Amino acid sequence: MLAQRVKNIAPSATLAIDAMAKQLKKEGKDVVIFGAGEPDFNTPENIKLAAKKAIDSNFTRYTPVGGIPELRNAVAAKLKRENKLDYDASEVLISCGGKHSLFNIAMAVLDKGDEAILPVPYWVSYEEMIKIAEARPVFCRTDDKFKITSKMVEEKITPRTKMLILNSPSNPSGAIANHDEIRKIAELAIEHNFYVLSDEVYEHFTYGNVKHLSIGSLNEEIKSLTILSNSVSKTYAMTGWRIGYTAGPKEIIKAMDNLQSHSTSNPTSIAQYAALEALNGPQDSVKQMVQAFDERRRFIHKRLNGVSGISCVEPEGAFYAFPDVSETGMSSMEFSSRLLDEALVAVVPGIAFGSDRHVRLSYATSIHEIERGMDRIDRWIKQKAVKIENEEI
Ligand code: GLU
Repeated sequence: MLAQRVKNIAPSATLAIDAMAKQLKKEGKDVVIFGAGEPDFNTPENIKLAAKKAIDSNFTRYTPVGGIPELRNAVAAKLKRENKLDYDASEVLISCGGKHSLFNIAMAVLDKGDEAILPVPYWVSYEEMIKIAEARPVFCRTDDKFKITSKMVEEKITPRTKMLILNSPSNPSGAIANHDEIRKIAELAIEHNFYVLSDEVYEHFTYGNVKHLSIGSLNEEIKSLTILSNSVSKTYAMTGWRIGYTAGPKEIIKAMDNLQSHSTSNPTSIAQYAALEALNGPQDSVKQMVQAFDERRRFIHKRLNGVSGISCVEPEGAFYAFPDVSETGMSSMEFSSRLLDEALVAVVPGIAFGSDRHVRLSYATSIHEIERGMDRIDRWIKQKAVKIENEEI
């Protein structure tokens, strides 16, 4: 008796693995978790204090559906300060996490029969959101470093193309789109009149000399076709608070506001005050986190490439490594489930992100945990190699 709409939805693999690994931990198993991508740091004290103050000041009632004006203004100011983007507060909507912002965007923009270009590998929920909106995901290849190029996008454009999803830095690959390619992609969007959903949730997690570029900041024309999504979850270690935001053309923001008014209403009032402090308060914690992630990134990249049968492109951003495990002879699902069963290490199968040759490891965990996990993977692969050799004999 289920509605057709939900019959074909696959559960979120990232959250499923996370739940499974945490359950094993609860049962007393010593699992090393490289599952869901969430910073292992605590929410900074000043942000927690702002939330406590909000409770004590009785900011516990309904707020405007799209967020308190102070927070919408703070987002607009942040976009100007950090991304050179000029948005009015009326062009900003606060939602219950980045995922909710993205879901609202899909609902507000995509119709049955529309096509949304999705570069592979992609974050697990984009595909399902497009399908729930009854549109069609059009998968687009990326290069051998998982980078998207304008040529690859161009190959996929049809008269039905309504949107391109640009997620740079990318989850799951950590790739950062080349700035020249972003410029050319903007030209394509203008020429063919489609939206660019720019998911910039990992914008601060860039390493070395590679920097993030907000596509909407290039010129007014592309800005009018850009729908920017972001959240405070990753930047400020606030995944549980559920505050995301969208900036875009007024009519889209208005439509999303209407939609939200019939689903969740406002995001949690207390969390909005915490997000306000996150955006307006001191930013030192962000720098410290990014530094720690950079150290972990280099460490895990080196360790992964030291395991026989595994090769990993150096991630430039976000906090994920996306190694190719196809030489082990296992599918991504077999690799992940056996690794969890046999060596108590949780990783996410690449099939959830559109590639069965890869698995994803979130390195948003301590160097010590990464070391333990990598030691286990190394041992597990070596034992398997012995087994395979024996089988061959
Ligand atoms: N975005 C994170 C991840 O990919 C959080 C989990 C989720 O919502 O998918 O792991």
